Amino acid sequence: MDANEQFTDSIDALKETGVRITPQRKAVLKYMIETEEHPTADDIFKALSSEYPNMSVATIYNNLKLFKDTGLVKELTYGDSSSRFDFITDTHYHIICSNCGKITDFHYPGLEEVEQLAGSVTEYDVSHHRLEIYGLCPECREQV
Ligand SMILES: [Zn+2]
Ligand SMILES: [Zn+2]
Repeated sequence: MDANEQFTDSIDALKETGVRITPQRKAVLKYMIETEEHPTADDIFKALSSEYPNMSVATIYNNLKLFKDTGLVKELTYGDSSSRFDFITDTHYHIICSNCGKITDFHYPGLEEVEQLAGSVTEYDVSHHRLEIYGLCPECREQV
């Protein structure tokens, strides 16, 4: 799926929930689809405020919550910094910089096996798993 298809599908999903599709809502959604980063509401505000002067951080946050409820984005809470958001595409994992908090995606197949194993040895009904790797990002490595 390319970015345009993701955008159209996401708009359709939002319409089904009965919310109004405002230009600001579209802009936040588009930003989330196109960014490689895992932005906070504040980051999105900084990126969009020149184009949408009436948009506030609260508006962006409300939109992100709405997208989250619709299943379009994931809220990431690592450590105690403010929430970061990630557009849900395929399953991927995160490596997090313990110095600056930057989050980078990486793909690794096969962890469904771990879920199956965990379920069968404990007799739990497994719903999901969470894996985070921590370290220093390339930029922070340069500084030490
Ligand atoms: Zn870093
Ligand atoms: Zn991610």
